[in-house]
Amino acid sequence: MAGINFKDELIKLVELQKIDGQIYSFSQAKEVELPKKLQDLKDAFELRKKEVTGASEEVKQAMLKKKDKELEMASKEENVVKAQAQLYQLKNNKEYQAKMSEIASMKADISLLEESIIKLIDAVEAAEKKAKEKQDIFTAEQSKFSQEETKIKNDINEVAIQSKILEDRRVGLVRDVDPEILIKYDKLIKSRSGYAIAPVVNGSCGACNIRASHQVINEIKMYKSLVLCGNCVRILYIPEDFGLDASREKSEGNVESTH
Ligand SMILES: [Zn+2]
Repeated sequence: MAGINFKDELIKLVELQKIDGQIYSFSQAKEVELPKKLQDLKDAFELRKKEVTGASEEVKQAMLKKKDKELEMASKEENVVKAQAQLYQLKNNKEYQAKMSEIASMKADISLLEESIIKLIDAVEAAEKKAKEKQDIFTAEQSKFSQEETKIKNDINEVAIQSKILEDRRVGLVRDVDPEILIKYDKLIKSRSGYAIAPVVNGSCGACNIRASHQVINEIKMYKSLVLCGNCVRILYIPEDFGLDASREKSEGNVESTH
């Protein structure tokens, strides 16, 4: 790469990095964060829906149980009526007594059934109350959910618009960058979380905070090649060489510490 003015190229990359850092965070928002937010919202909504369905299913089950017991009781009552009619056709006292005790036993069963039906009526009421509560929560949250969904979808669109504006500006900037250097830089942008060029701040890499050796510093200052951080493999530059404030560059560029 003879004939390249590495100092000039580095300052172009520093400018480019400012845009690319933003483009990267926009793409993270658009591709990862906002879609996840949308999915979480949908999941929460589905959960509420399932609660409503589950609660109305419980009502159905409670009603079925009650109906079963009612049918059972009706058939026992019918049997009692039949048995009572038979009483008059019986020939002797022994048969009469046997029939009477049969009737008494059926009546005892009926009163047990009555008790359990009363309990089941309570169970149906409780299930209906719960189902109504779940339905009310669902109805109240339904509009909130759809508002939130619209908001997230708008955010995704807005981020796409902002990102497009930056990408258009980027096209103008990269035109001036040496093509081979640009290829290296672009690879790093992709593989290093949108952060390809890091300032040396107080003798350390501004991205990963690992100390840069004197040899590395000297190599950078020679401006004969791109010098990479031995630890995080980002292109290093010395802000003071471009009249930039190192602490400011670091605070703008340092993404490593927040990850
Ligand atoms: Zn580093």
